[in-house]
Amino acid sequence: MIRRIRRMVTAVFLSAGLFPALALAGPPLQVVASFSILGDMVGNVGAGRAAVTVLVGPNQDTHVYEPKPGDAKALASASLIFVNGLGFEGWMPRLVQTSGTKGRTVTASQGVKTLTMVDEDAGGKKIADPHAWQDLANGKLYVANIAQALCEADPDGAEVYKANARAYLAKIEETDAWVRAEFAKIPQAQRKIITSHDAFGYFGHAYGVAILAPLGFSTESEASAKNVGKLIRQIKQEQVKALFIENMTDPRLVERIAKETGTRVGGALYSDALSAPDEPGGTYLDMFRNNAGKMVAAMAGQ
Ligand SMILES: [Zn+2]
Repeated sequence: MIRRIRRMVTAVFLSAGLFPALALAGPPLQVVASFSILGDMVGNVGAGRAAVTVLVGPNQDTHVYEPKPGDAKALASASLIFVNGLGFEGWMPRLVQTSGTKGRTVTASQGVKTLTMVDEDAGGKKIADPHAWQDLANGKLYVANIAQALCEADPDGAEVYKANARAYLAKIEETDAWVRAEFAKIPQAQRKIITSHDAFGYFGHAYGVAILAPLGFSTESEASAKNVGKLIRQIKQEQVKALFIENMTDPRLVERIAKETGTRVGGALYSDALSAPDEPGGTYLDMFRNNAGKMVAAMAGQ
């Protein structure tokens, strides 16, 4: 019972945070977003017309999420269900089915040029990397997909959604330019980081940063002793200075690597979830500014 009340409070808090006025007025379009980062994007494009319920909240791990009874209820009353896709929400198809929802599932990553990664859980098989939002150019594609789906589901709001999308896309471009300018301060050879799971493939590809990670694509797999040993040798050899934990994964592995290599942990990066609103990664774009800022500071030895 206590848990249920706490969940309700969280849900109300989330929608009130995104739509202070509409949360009370009873907004016309009910939509669900699978995880916090996507929820922030949908909230920006849908502002003024749509009420967003986020299933996997701040600082939570979507890879290993176990749906709660309230989630099926939220889906049942939703017109649109926004997911990342690319295998990120393995639990979602079953949840959609059991909820009996008539809402349309929208894959926000539709049209993204995917990168591949090695899936340690499937014996080293190559799969599509789901963390596409970690490149702001992909974020722009997500926004276009979100705007199109909202316009189709609520044609009366089309002008609002299009205006919201335009304003948000301008902010994304501004953030992208800032991130590029920050990394331009660091020589290419020093642009290397270590982090606890392999979530920054798209980030590294977009901004010219080499990402070394002891885990595979998912937080579900345990890092093998062999991989950790290899990584420790690599850190020493390549003199990597930027070592990071993530907000939604167990920090112990990275802390151990830091100790064994004499490297300092450069703080927490936000990879698969936003932070709480009062922390530095409370929105998609703040998450980028936090991550790039911390990486650049660590690479520069600050
Ligand atoms: Zn991940």
